[in-house]
Amino acid sequence: MPELPEVEVVRRGLAEHVAGRTVCGVEVRHPRSVRRHLAGELDFTARLRGRQIRAVRRRGKYLWLDLGDGDALLAHLGMSGQMRIQHPGAIDETHLRVRIQFVDGDPELRFIDQRTFGGLSIEEVIDGLPIPVAHIARDPLDPLFELDEVIAGIQARRTGLKRALLDQTLISGIGNIYADEALWRAQLHGAQPTATLTRAQGRTVLSAVTEVMTEALAAGGTSFDALYVNINGASGYFDRSLAAYGQAGRPCPRCGIAIQREPFMNRSSFSCPRCQPRLPQTRI
Ligand SMILES: [Zn+2]
Repeated sequence: MPELPEVEVVRRGLAEHVAGRTVCGVEVRHPRSVRRHLAGELDFTARLRGRQIRAVRRRGKYLWLDLGDGDALLAHLGMSGQMRIQHPGAIDETHLRVRIQFVDGDPELRFIDQRTFGGLSIEEVIDGLPIPVAHIARDPLDPLFELDEVIAGIQARRTGLKRALLDQTLISGIGNIYADEALWRAQLHGAQPTATLTRAQGRTVLSAVTEVMTEALAAGGTSFDALYVNINGASGYFDRSLAAYGQAGRPCPRCGIAIQREPFMNRSSFSCPRCQPRLPQTRI
């Protein structure tokens, strides 16, 4: 799944191109892509037609178009979902699933999704959040993010540090890529029990998260998966700056020994065995 920087890149592009515009036509080309809209495809198109997009919002990895009147069009990007801006005359993409057209014509919004794990749904908004996003914690780029509160939350959770960083109810927006990069920068191992995490270590790793995400955002995101693209279909280039994630066997940019890959929750974790020792360091 795309992580916060990749989703924020898309949010900014959509804010520029669709905010303030009024929907006139909706074409659902694959029923799976609106399956989360439980009232069905006809209700989906009927409720979207004529609505003005007030703003484009995000929390963590979740993205939605604010339709006003307590409604939002929530985009579930899943593994391969893309929100693209395209000229109405442009040839349909092979995996075009939903087309949204606007009263003012050019350009249109297309939801493209190769694997159809993602989708669109209209959701009720309560306290500023669509209902499926209500349990998602604030992300590190949120102005109201409370650092010390999040550290305390991580310490209270009896788990490993990386699992806590990936827990979207504690802190949102972080996935495998930015967790590994932040842990590498903080020189901490993801398996460290959260109960042993000091407040200073917590501050170090969360500062690293903010830092790496801000840098990735400036680079247009990470295109480690070729499906993470902006609204024009272009990839970011932060993958060139990755120090640990996906770098197994390559030298650690800090100490030069080979980055290792370890199994983690049916996926992989990448870390430096010297800079990020697996056991908590002995206190002197
Ligand atoms: Zn190293």
